[in-house]
Amino acid sequence: MITITTEDDSLAEHEMQAIRGNIRNTTNGATITLSTTSFTINNTLGSKLKKWEDEGFPDVPGAHHAKAIAAELRARKTHTLVRDIEHAAINPLVQSAKSAAKNALGQPPPWPVREPQECFMVDGMKLAIRKIKTHKTDQREATRWNMEEALDRLQDTSESRATAKEVWRGMKSPHIIKGARGFMWLAMHDGYMTGDRWLKTNMSEEYKERGMCKNCIQVESMNHILFHCEEIGQEMIWKLLTSVWSEAGLPKMSANWGSVLAPGIASPESGERPLTGHERRLWTILTTECDRVIEEQGEAHTAVEVTNRWYAAMNGRLALDRRTRRGAGNVAKIWLPILNDRDRLPEDWVLGGGGLVGIRKASG
Ligand SMILES: [Zn+2]
Repeated sequence: MITITTEDDSLAEHEMQAIRGNIRNTTNGATITLSTTSFTINNTLGSKLKKWEDEGFPDVPGAHHAKAIAAELRARKTHTLVRDIEHAAINPLVQSAKSAAKNALGQPPPWPVREPQECFMVDGMKLAIRKIKTHKTDQREATRWNMEEALDRLQDTSESRATAKEVWRGMKSPHIIKGARGFMWLAMHDGYMTGDRWLKTNMSEEYKERGMCKNCIQVESMNHILFHCEEIGQEMIWKLLTSVWSEAGLPKMSANWGSVLAPGIASPESGERPLTGHERRLWTILTTECDRVIEEQGEAHTAVEVTNRWYAAMNGRLALDRRTRRGAGNVAKIWLPILNDRDRLPEDWVLGGGGLVGIRKASG
C-alpha cells in the first residue's frame, strides 16, 4: 500500500500535480490510498468526481490535473481509496508529508509529468458517451492493426504488397458462405468480444479475466484463437488442411492471418507455381470452413475428435456445394484435386448418386 498525503486547500493544484506523479510511479496493481486533509482534493477525486466530469470541472482548482488523475486512476487495475484525514496535527502521516514537502520546496518534480492515455480522459461528458468513443477509437486501431498484419503475412509469400481494398473485396467471393463472410469481417474489425476489448474498457475484474486466454496467459484475440492458442486444436486443423492440400499435389500453402482472411489473393510458398483460379477458390472454401471449425470448437478436444470434426465439416461443405452447385457449375473442377479416388469417380459425380464422394484422408 502506498499512502500519499496532501495538505492545505490553497496548494491543491500543486498537490494534485504531486499525486499525478506519484500515481504514475506506482506499480499498476498496487492499491493506492490517497489520504488527504484537503477538502478540495477529497471532493474532486472522491465523491464529486463523476459530477464534475459530467459538468466539465467548472471552476475546480487544478481541473487539468484532476482530469489527468482521474484518467490515471481509471487506467489502473485496482481500486483507489480517497480518504479524508481528520485531526491533522496528531497524524504521523501528515507530519511526515509536511516535512517531505518542506524539503522538496523549489525543487523540480522528481518524475516527468506525462499526459495520460487519451482513451482514459474524460472531458465534460457522460461516462456512457466516453465509453462509446473509446470503443470506436479502439475499434479503428484494431482494424488497422489487423489489416496491416494480414497485408504483412500476404507479403511473406508475394513480391508485391496487396491493398486493404483487395482484402475487403475478396471477402465478397461467392465461395465464402454468408456466415463465414461475417466471421471474417468481424475478425478483421476485432468485432468479437476478445481480449483487448475486455481489458481496455471499464469492466469488472471478472469480465477482464475473460479477456485473457487462461491456457496460454495471452490476451485473447481472434488472431490468437485462430493461429496461436494451444488449447483448441487450431494447429491440428491447419495441419489437416495443409496436408490434404499438398498431398493432392497442389502448390504448398501456409495458413496464417493473411492467407486465411484474404484467401483469394494469397500466394503459395516461394518456389511453388502460382495457384490456378479453381485452386484459389478451393483454398478460399477450405480455409473459411476451417475458421468455422475452430470458432465452434470451444473447449479442448482429443485429436480424434478434432480430426473427425474437420472431415465432417469439409465433407459437409462439399455436399452443400454439390447440392447447390455453388460457383456456377465449377464444383467438379474446384473440388476434384482433394477427393478420394478422384480418378474413379463417375462423370456425373456432382449431381449423380456418388454418395461416397469425400475428401481424401491425409496420410500424416
Ligand atoms: Zn490460448
